[in-house]
Amino acid sequence: MSLVYIGLGANLGQPQQQLEQAFIELARLPNSTLVTQSSLYHSKPVGPQDQPDYVNAVALLETTLEPLALLDALQQLEQDHGRIRKRHWGERTLDLDIILIDDSVIESERLTVPHPFAQQRSFVLIPLSEINPELVFPNGKALGQLLTELDNDLIRIRD
Ligand code: ATP
Ligand code: CA
Ligand code: CA
Repeated sequence: MSLVYIGLGANLGQPQQQLEQAFIELARLPNSTLVTQSSLYHSKPVGPQDQPDYVNAVALLETTLEPLALLDALQQLEQDHGRIRKRHWGERTLDLDIILIDDSVIESERLTVPHPFAQQRSFVLIPLSEINPELVFPNGKALGQLLTELDNDLIRIRD
């Protein structure tokens, strides 16, 4: 059994609903339980600026799926949401990134864990801190410390 933090993002096709639906689908993944979901946040795009703002969140999943099986399942969900890859860091209906899997470090062709940019992205770290403020990355960096080094440029979406 592994605890996996998943970063969710969307900026097309009613992004807030894309994420609400994605939480439901994560809860239905085989051999998995959705433990917690963060609030939703608005963030500015990384990469091309001529695209809509994003809605982001983080989910905590308990699963016995192997890492690559989980990646397959998440990529299938992205496809189910009609994701089309047009340009690097471009607009999308749903993005599901594996942020952390326990204290694992994975560097394979299809999968890098922890997610390589997680520690620099407020739209990952802020929702993550809502779920587990005491979290420490496998490289020893504490989430609380990383947050002091970043601007809080997110707007929390109230239910
Ligand atoms: P970024 O990775 O900077 O957030 P992105 O989410 O836009 O960018 P994608 O086009 O969604 O990137 O993914 C490209 C590839 O990244 C995927 O096909 C997948 O194999 C690979 N990948 C590597 N590590 C991870 C991870 N931790 N979570 C999800 N995908 C990953
Ligand atoms: Ca991403
Ligand atoms: Ca991705």
